[in-house]
Amino acid sequence: MEGEWDMKTDVLIIGGGVIGCGIAHQLCKYNFDIMLVEKEADVCMGTSKANSSMLHDGYNVDKTKLKGQLVLKSTKELYQKMAEELHFDLNICGSLLPGFVEADWDAIYHQFQMSAENDIRGVRIVGQKELHELEPHMNPAAKFALFNPNTGVLNPFELTIALGEHAVQNGAKVLLNTEVTGINSSGGRVTSVVTDRGIIEAKVVINAAGLFSDHVAGMVETIDYTVKPRKGVYFLYDKQYGTYIKRAIYSTPTTVSKGLIMLPTTEGNLLCGSNAIMHDEKDDLSTDLESLNHIYAEAIHKYYPELPRMGDVTTIFAGNRAASNTEDFIIGHSKNVRGMINLIGIQSPGLSSVPAIADMVEDLVREVGENLNFGIKDYYNPTRPKPIVLRELSYQERADYIAENPDYGTIICRCETVSKGEILDAIRRPIPATDLDAIKRRTRAGMGRCQGGFCGPRVVGILEKELGISPLEVTKKGKDSYILSMQAKELALQEGGSSNEKVIL
Ligand SMILES: Cc1cc2nc3c(=O)[nH]c(=O)nc-3n(C[C@H](O)[C@H](O)[C@H](O)COP(=O)(O)OP(=O)(O)OC[C@H]3O[C@@H](n4cnc5c(N)ncnc54)[C@H](O)[C@@H]3O)c2cc1C
Repeated sequence: MEGEWDMKTDVLIIGGGVIGCGIAHQLCKYNFDIMLVEKEADVCMGTSKANSSMLHDGYNVDKTKLKGQLVLKSTKELYQKMAEELHFDLNICGSLLPGFVEADWDAIYHQFQMSAENDIRGVRIVGQKELHELEPHMNPAAKFALFNPNTGVLNPFELTIALGEHAVQNGAKVLLNTEVTGINSSGGRVTSVVTDRGIIEAKVVINAAGLFSDHVAGMVETIDYTVKPRKGVYFLYDKQYGTYIKRAIYSTPTTVSKGLIMLPTTEGNLLCGSNAIMHDEKDDLSTDLESLNHIYAEAIHKYYPELPRMGDVTTIFAGNRAASNTEDFIIGHSKNVRGMINLIGIQSPGLSSVPAIADMVEDLVREVGENLNFGIKDYYNPTRPKPIVLRELSYQERADYIAENPDYGTIICRCETVSKGEILDAIRRPIPATDLDAIKRRTRAGMGRCQGGFCGPRVVGILEKELGISPLEVTKKGKDSYILSMQAKELALQEGGSSNEKVIL
């Protein structure tokens, strides 16, 4: 272990969410070593995987807060450039905040005034006729709405993985299944990070540990803030409803949330959520009937009364916002240990603030990274190759790929039309997918209507062969989340019969 883990780096990032990967992406152009450590089996397994996926332009933010300033700096043009260079899906679909009765007018007009104060262009109030032209299925009782053409929707898995892969392509190292358990300092300066796999020496340590960032910051000093989970629950409707709603629809906002939302995902589903429930368990992602009833009544049924309550819902899920007690992002140097940078309370709009957060962190790294070489690497490439996604190609293009590699002609996931070739590509990418959920996040195999019922066993077989492991070692999401418990042969022997089939639990 010592040999493998006799490791050194210049900059060490803790956490492979969109923020940690965004910082790695930002810094990977420079001539110093970067390492990112993530306790889970893949990047994008924390808050970054379960959220509303909206690109907010900050039209209604409080500019006196850091989170307001950073989202305003992270313009849609920056995201559009990033999407072109790194190849992730981004749809600037716009948003509507509809009103039904006179009392809604005040809230909507207040938001309109805020957009003017925040210098956001194109925001306007539309009347009933235009509202229903924009959203033909909306409840006819909706009378007016605030229309913002700048709001977008992106795919948070694609974004996070693209940022991380781009960093790896430019020399960064990503260590998965590696949990930081302590941080060492000497003479008031950070020296190394202790992980459950060994010690890594580092000149600068960046704490992007999301919900656990308070715990990590507390490894070097006493902290005077807390991070609490604030849960949001979602309905994901099947693809037949993917075009039912054209824009992101907000319900009237509350003091702790921008309100409930309904939007078309970039993959063609309809996403509806999310409420805001404070609780204590950072890993608790359970959903509850009360939340689902609330979202259905206050958003789905109120705005789109024809949408069913359950039948066409593919899945329900929850995400936890990392809410600090200041209700703001806290980004800065550690008070006592030079070289340690903390990002605390990066709740919404964290996904929409990545470019400005990464810029700010770069400035902080420059302040404490005295010996780091900020010259640009000679091999730096600002673009990431686009992964092959057959369902997005023409028949001729697909035929060309299949002629070159027959694995692209073997369909493994029927719901989402994902081929064996694409699954093998995901396993071989710069941040390799080594479990079922990692394959799902990269290819969508298992994300369709049957939720992996058909393709799951086949993906297990591909992982087994490609990784050279026993099928019993294949997991759903790393650690001990095994899919199979024993070979059917063993089971049959236990039961006095014989078989070569594998048992899937
Ligand atoms: C319900 C909900 C809706 C939201 N909607 C939006 C939205 O529409 N638009 C928007 O802009 N933002 C939204 N957000 C906010 C956005 O999702 C977050 O700001 C963003 O994902 C935070 O990313 P992160 O990298 O800080 O955290 P995470 O994604 O949680 O990443 C932190 C990582 O650190 C790892 N880690 C923790 N401790 C350790 C350790 N000791 N060692 C190693 N690794 C460790 C974790 O495993 C995790 O992978 C929403 C959030 C929620 C929950």
